[in-house]
Amino acid sequence: MKVGFIGLGQMGSAMAANLIRRGHEVTLWNRSLDKAAGLVAAGAKLASSPAAAAQGDVVMTMLADDAAVEAVVYGDKGILEQPALHISQSTISVDLADRLARSHGADAFVSAPVFGRPPAAQAGMLFVIAAGQNAALEAATPALEAISQSIFRVGSSPSQANLVKLGGNFMIVAAIEAFAEAMTLVESGNVSRRDFYEVITRTIFNFPVLRTYGELLVTEAFQPAGFPATLGLKDMNLVDAVAGERQVPMPVLGVMRDHLRSVIATEGTELDLAAMGLAVRRSANR
Ligand code: NAP
Repeated sequence: MKVGFIGLGQMGSAMAANLIRRGHEVTLWNRSLDKAAGLVAAGAKLASSPAAAAQGDVVMTMLADDAAVEAVVYGDKGILEQPALHISQSTISVDLADRLARSHGADAFVSAPVFGRPPAAQAGMLFVIAAGQNAALEAATPALEAISQSIFRVGSSPSQANLVKLGGNFMIVAAIEAFAEAMTLVESGNVSRRDFYEVITRTIFNFPVLRTYGELLVTEAFQPAGFPATLGLKDMNLVDAVAGERQVPMPVLGVMRDHLRSVIATEGTELDLAAMGLAVRRSANR
């Protein structure tokens, strides 16, 4: 299949590598062109603009945020009105997903955000949450299979996938918050973080998110940031926007968002999402 791929950050470069590995004919575009060198050596072509990367069957976008996706779709030499089906995989707002669906048309747009950090992307083991019209989803499937272990279809309106993604990320951040608070509590009684981690992740909360983020809370290995706190804050702001529009109270959200703001303000923009645990500890003077 002829696949355009736009956005070669931590996630996108790993996803594009898997598309090449699975035999797809991949054409790349990234704002910083130097990031494409390794993938070009592995067999991909380099396009001169986003539009030039959208001449095949599908074009996948994996970009930082709403502004980046808007630039690539609606900006100079953007992908709007190009022949390829747009598969949008970035974590973006529900409003932008709705706007993209209107602009492209139902048969030319699929939302397919992902769960999984860069190591899962490298292993082709992401979880894809997909929504859109059936024919468009069918057309997107071969490309999505190349980057994932499972594809979940959650509706016929593309932004439904973004809503599920935002709901899931809210739960990840809430899990980190809860783990960090409980870890701080047990440490106040001289139980080690490591012992608490082992008990909790082998018993009542034996699941991947808590194993991954709990390990980071124990070791404080917040750099390099697989999922930066800045992207986590962006996602919590997206949750707040849609919850506000729909009058859905989410009182826990404000606490977590402030801990993210606090750690970014005090430690800078380079730390992992798990570093929000630092804000929890400091509030207990530990
Ligand atoms: P990243 O490493 O920061 O990469 C961001 C990408 O967006 C880069 O290709 C960057 O281009 C591009 N970009 C940023 N602003 C742009 C603009 N104005 N115009 C054009 N391109 C622009 O981020 P990532 O970790 O790969 O994440 C990508 C998306 O996946 C985000 O929406 C994130 O929330 C989501 N996500 C991340 C993870 C994770 O664990 N990291 C997991 C699931 C979902 P340059 O190379 O030129 O800077």
